Amino acid sequence: MVKDSKRTVPTGRFAPTPSGEMHAGNLLCALLAYLSVKSKGGRFLVRIEDLDTDRCPRSSADKIIGVLNELGLTSDEPVIWQSGRASVYREKENELGRKTRVYPCFCTRAQLHAAEAPRLSDGGVIYSGACRRLTSQQIAEMSKSRRPCYRVEVPDTEIVFTDLLAGETVQNLKRQCGDFILRRSDGVYAYQFAVAVDDGESGVTEVVRGNDLLSSTPRQIWLMRLLGYTPPAYYHIPLVCDGDGRKLSKSEGDSAARLVGTYPRERVLGYLAYCAGIIESNRAASLEELIDCFSWEKVRRGKILLDKHLLI
Ligand code: GLU
Repeated sequence: MVKDSKRTVPTGRFAPTPSGEMHAGNLLCALLAYLSVKSKGGRFLVRIEDLDTDRCPRSSADKIIGVLNELGLTSDEPVIWQSGRASVYREKENELGRKTRVYPCFCTRAQLHAAEAPRLSDGGVIYSGACRRLTSQQIAEMSKSRRPCYRVEVPDTEIVFTDLLAGETVQNLKRQCGDFILRRSDGVYAYQFAVAVDDGESGVTEVVRGNDLLSSTPRQIWLMRLLGYTPPAYYHIPLVCDGDGRKLSKSEGDSAARLVGTYPRERVLGYLAYCAGIIESNRAASLEELIDCFSWEKVRRGKILLDKHLLI
């Protein structure tokens, strides 16, 4: 359970998945998360979301931390590594199982993606609930040939929240999301669950991240409430694109490591802050200066364009 003293301190975090390099847009997200919480006098945490250790090599995580440190976006507490927290997730999974139904699911990919499966807007499928009512005998039988994943049964409830950038967001968990996975069949905990637990355990009061995660937020809020945590405030930032309005990639040209490796720290900070709308001219700026002048009102609401040519 979160201690009250922790929640009184504004707490923000940046939580990259080190499955590859960071691009400049990820770096901008880290900067906004940092400035937002520091401008409130709070603390900033870095959490490495390396649940899937096969996809997330330590070297990528070290590189990300190196880039953040290079810009001064350092964690106020030891970096949290999700790969080392399985025992916490296990404990919380048990707690959740006492409050709602968590059940094994043996469905294959083909069964899940059957033609009649209702689709989500992001192309995923809404789980049919086929394994929801298996008897213990059926479970024992099916376990002989297949390792199940574990899902949580969601209620027919609307989760409503006001994102501080995207506005009011409503999602019916049953109709628009469905019973979702807490733990994969290989034992790896799912992103949604680990994020809810870690944001709750760290006393996070605000989350700044990309708009692509807006539709994940109702699930996380619901899990946090069930586990007795107070959900944070959310700022889902608009898509960050290159100068031509194309989605950024992690290619050499857009990589955050290249940026910090090529230009002085304050030049990179000023460039990112200018592109986001925080300062009015494209110049060098210190972190202290940006903390002083930061306000969400200044941050662009439409696409944020990171035009590399501004650095030449
Ligand atoms: N690890 C996620 C990502 O890199 C972000 C998680 C979050 O901020 O909640 O996309």
